[in-house]
Amino acid sequence: MDISNLSSTRQVLREASYKFLLPLNDGTKMFYGRKKAAIPGVIFKPADGNTIRDSNHIFSVVVNNAAGTKLWNKIVQDNQSGTVNQGSPEHEFLQLWSNIGNARQDSVDLRAMSQFPGVFKVAELYGRDRIFKYITTDLRMPQQVFVKHFGEVPDMGEEHFVKFHDARVFIPDNARAASKKAMMNVLETLFQHLRANGFGFLFHGDIRFIQLVGNRIGTYNVITKEMNIVPKVKNSKEVIYTLLHEFAHKYWFEYMDQEARVKVRQKFGELMRGDTRHKADTSSHDATIADLRANLEPGMQLDYTGRKRDFKRYSPFVIKDITKDGFLRLASVADEMEFVRVKAPIAALLTNRWSVPSLEEGGFEKPEPLTKYDMESDQWFPTKYSMVEDEEWFAEIMAFFLLDHLHGEPEEFLHEVFGV
Ligand SMILES: [Zn+2]
Repeated sequence: MDISNLSSTRQVLREASYKFLLPLNDGTKMFYGRKKAAIPGVIFKPADGNTIRDSNHIFSVVVNNAAGTKLWNKIVQDNQSGTVNQGSPEHEFLQLWSNIGNARQDSVDLRAMSQFPGVFKVAELYGRDRIFKYITTDLRMPQQVFVKHFGEVPDMGEEHFVKFHDARVFIPDNARAASKKAMMNVLETLFQHLRANGFGFLFHGDIRFIQLVGNRIGTYNVITKEMNIVPKVKNSKEVIYTLLHEFAHKYWFEYMDQEARVKVRQKFGELMRGDTRHKADTSSHDATIADLRANLEPGMQLDYTGRKRDFKRYSPFVIKDITKDGFLRLASVADEMEFVRVKAPIAALLTNRWSVPSLEEGGFEKPEPLTKYDMESDQWFPTKYSMVEDEEWFAEIMAFFLLDHLHGEPEEFLHEVFGV
């Protein structure tokens, strides 16, 4: 079976909730990773003979595709003769793993699955509210998808969320106390900024800490009106700015009338026709890159400390060449034939994904991240992104306003929009 196009469980779960599913005769529903994936990302089996729409007792099985593939390969490798003893755990796994992707099966074997906890994570869920909380928060299924397959959102018992001002906060079961504290800390900072500016009333509805697509920190869902925030969130300036931007979207959708939106659209159009633009000051960043470049030379070793699996495997790298346009050509130190060649911008070394041991021993320190705006000249367009379109512009300047960075004309304009 072709399982090569799925890279991780995370990927499977994210896409599983949208794309493809297989219902079995026993009421089980398997959510697949992608249209052609042979292996489901997550399986739901009613334990009480109902359909999953009516069930009050469900088994959920999260399938770790990478671990399953690894185990499969290991069994195949360990048994080069091609035979595996009937009745052995290995045999049982091979059968299970080839069956699971087979559309003709009519039930799933939970007993067999629970013997391989590294591959199948089985959880038993009692009660509609527990089912809802676990599936939408721990398994990150979007609420609309839940409603489609599992039915209405139930009334929630207080044990499933944390009450925070007027909001209900949903946190994954496996979050540790310290990260839970960090999450609440971020919410508290957000609340302070909102309340100080008279927008404390925006703190209501559901806030869910879940993994998001790509590098996003938070999103506001215009349909369900809920706020999603990644669980590993730090109380940094950038995070707070980004999340206040999302609260500005909440304000736009839930509180602004047509007149206020038209005001924003007109102003945005007017500004874009004029010559006001975002102009971030990049001079110190440029100077650091130049400084770094002057200190780099071919033959130097670089360690990759990020999370990209292929890069981790081939680290350390050595600089082969530095191009005129500011790129490094790298080769893996272990790879004498230089099959693996990487081209990276010098600026990549300023991130925490790379380290240059020889420079760091010499006292080189990575600078602070690039300042995003100039306090004076960037009042109308605090970021490049704010020039994209009117609603995003509004969200950016409102975030800027909530952080008390806005003054003069732009601030007056916002007050007009708020109707104050
Ligand atoms: Zn936005």
